[in-house]
Amino acid sequence: MSADRYRAAGWWRPERVDDLVLRHAEALADRCAIVQEQRRMTYRQLTVAVDSTAARLRLLGLRAPEPVLLQLPNSIELLVLALALMRAGCPPVLAMPTLRGHELSPVIATLRPAALAVPPRSRAFDHTEMARRLIGEHDCVRTLLAWEDLHALCAPGHGEAARVHTPHPQDIALHLLSSGTTGPPKGIPRTHEAFTSVIRAASEVSALDRDSVYLAAIPVTHSFAFGHPGVLGTLAGGGRVVLARSADPAHCLDLVERERVTHCALVPGLAAQWLTELRDHPRDVSSLRVLQVGGAQLDPAAARRLATGLDCAVQQVYGMSEGLLCFTRLDDPDDLAATTQGRPAAPGDELRVVDHAGRTAPPGTVGELWTRGPSTITAYAADVRPPEAFGPGGFYRTGDLVRLDDACNVTVVGRVKDVINRSGEKIPAGDLEALLLRHPAVCAAAVVAMPHPLHGEAVCAVVVASGSGDDVPRLRELRDFLRAQGIAPFKLPDRVEVVAALPVTGVGKVDKARLRRTVAALVAAGRPDPAGQTAGGQESPSSSRSAAAGVSS
Ligand code: AMP
Repeated sequence: MSADRYRAAGWWRPERVDDLVLRHAEALADRCAIVQEQRRMTYRQLTVAVDSTAARLRLLGLRAPEPVLLQLPNSIELLVLALALMRAGCPPVLAMPTLRGHELSPVIATLRPAALAVPPRSRAFDHTEMARRLIGEHDCVRTLLAWEDLHALCAPGHGEAARVHTPHPQDIALHLLSSGTTGPPKGIPRTHEAFTSVIRAASEVSALDRDSVYLAAIPVTHSFAFGHPGVLGTLAGGGRVVLARSADPAHCLDLVERERVTHCALVPGLAAQWLTELRDHPRDVSSLRVLQVGGAQLDPAAARRLATGLDCAVQQVYGMSEGLLCFTRLDDPDDLAATTQGRPAAPGDELRVVDHAGRTAPPGTVGELWTRGPSTITAYAADVRPPEAFGPGGFYRTGDLVRLDDACNVTVVGRVKDVINRSGEKIPAGDLEALLLRHPAVCAAAVVAMPHPLHGEAVCAVVVASGSGDDVPRLRELRDFLRAQGIAPFKLPDRVEVVAALPVTGVGKVDKARLRRTVAALVAAGRPDPAGQTAGGQESPSSSRSAAAGVSS
């Protein structure tokens, strides 16, 4: 059994995530652990809050091993609740605030959470109303943890709260959600022993220690900012976490200056905006030591511009919520750090590059990356192993096209999975195409990536109209239609092209490579889409800064 091997090698240790994260709490009791706006929480307050909250969750009737879905913005409440749930043996399911019913309903059906915690109502969207609807559809959910009640639920109590449950290190600590390559997200179960090994390895290569100040600029519900190494790695190192209320570069850079931030993780689009913001409004960012950039392709020239412009180490991160995490090292030569996405952080992770038939590709050539080892899951929740995700030998098929050098440094050059990576947020094409086909004016649809100056890639829907003349589907109408189907706003098409027929390959499949070339040429020529202009925006405008967050809030 590979799990026994990982334990024997010491890669998996008998420890729990909440214990690892709070291991310095006694020694650093009066040091600040978390900052959110004007609120500051010490390590002592954090520990008491976690224990008090775990006890209150029990009073609410939640029992191990019932999961609880957390769809919360960056907040002290999110961190306290996640740690309390792990301590109570009720695995938190981390869901991005951008997800909607279309994505969440299948997750709830599979993981069967007993409670949902949702963000406050905003002008753009009413999460409470969505949660009520989901509760009506899924009888497993007994409790709505409304935002208004979370402050009291997560406050430090008076007196010592007894530890309510001590999960086993082999128990599931939490569920992350996959970005979904063929459909809605799938649950990624992470045990305490496996997740702590990832946190430890990622923290070490990021040089997180007691002097570190980590800015959570992107949503903490994404694994990159949660435990890769993110806020959990920072706390496990005895450092301080600063929670940004949004990924807006001006807000984040104000926080860097005010809190003397040393570490931050960003997607490439946001990192580029930091330079623009600093050029227009200079600030003192001399405290910055490490800027981690990942989630989407960072071009080597952009990596060099960032390192010079911010005068700090730019650490490329390539990985996935399913487990594998590669980092360039802080002492790597500049050229390697700019041109590769690094090598695995954890010992024992195997990388294999394969050709289209699943055979090992010759060294140095491009192929799909398969991985297995202590960092990576061997099945999704409910033991689901779709063949496009798991290959022979228990390898996880990343769907990414890479090249490896002799030292196992990964360079990502493309992907075989039919997914659009819009500022780090992944849009499975097939999922969107199926929804577009429900529209009465659409009789065929193909969704492809188009180049975008801010997001790297944006979503172009190429459709064949059922009718003619007035029945041609227009962008606004299709976006409204898709929104009404309950999909996440970042998946809405940015552009629609209406064609007479979709091009097909020799074997009769839609020729997406050709469509991508055609759309890229139209974008390069600056031709507006005839079906109603390129989208001005998502629920918050895509031209606005915060929408480039990939992992946008
Ligand atoms: P997620 O599970 O949401 O973190 O998405 C993982 C996927 O994001 C990977 O399989 C890649 O397709 C993509 N990805 C992550 N980091 C990078 C990177 N540094 N360069 C290119 N693609 C990346």
